Amino acid sequence: MTRVTAYVGLGSNLDRPREQVLAALDELERLPQTRLVSRSRLYRSAPLGHEAQPDFVNAVARIDTGLTPSHLLAELQAIEQRHGRERLFPDAPRTLDLDLLLYGDAVIASASLTVPHPRMHQRAFVLRPLAEICPAAGVPGRGTAAQLLRACAAQDVEPMA
Ligand code: AMP
Repeated sequence: MTRVTAYVGLGSNLDRPREQVLAALDELERLPQTRLVSRSRLYRSAPLGHEAQPDFVNAVARIDTGLTPSHLLAELQAIEQRHGRERLFPDAPRTLDLDLLLYGDAVIASASLTVPHPRMHQRAFVLRPLAEICPAAGVPGRGTAAQLLRACAAQDVEPMA
């Protein structure tokens, strides 16, 4: 079976966000044909876009998986649903958001899935934890996490105690 290294971004800013993210990391570990290889620390980030909402807790997980990208996305969405995620409006507060950031070297542009994640290169709350666990990972044609992070220095993202 082909196994692929993939990166998943996690975020929450409702209903005990730290616990939401830690529980979701456990659920990633239990996905079929998947192993959680490493995960970043938890980070606190100020909301982007709609700013009148609580800070987020973010992390990035590195997984080793035999799932296809579409199967993996479906599993991530099932985890979100179990955490009671509702999509009220774009950039709204959410109990859990899971993004498929990178899937090996794959470049995917389908109706339901874009990989690398289309906004990851401009989000410090993704790049900072990604650079912690794999500074060389990045977006082909744009740069590594460590390089891209330098352009997002104004964004407020800090490791949590
Ligand atoms: P969001 O509300 O930001 O979680 O966006 C969810 C929608 O984005 C879903 O309909 C997914 O099909 C779509 N999507 C496209 N690319 C990705 C990706 N790389 N990771 C997660 N969701 C994605």
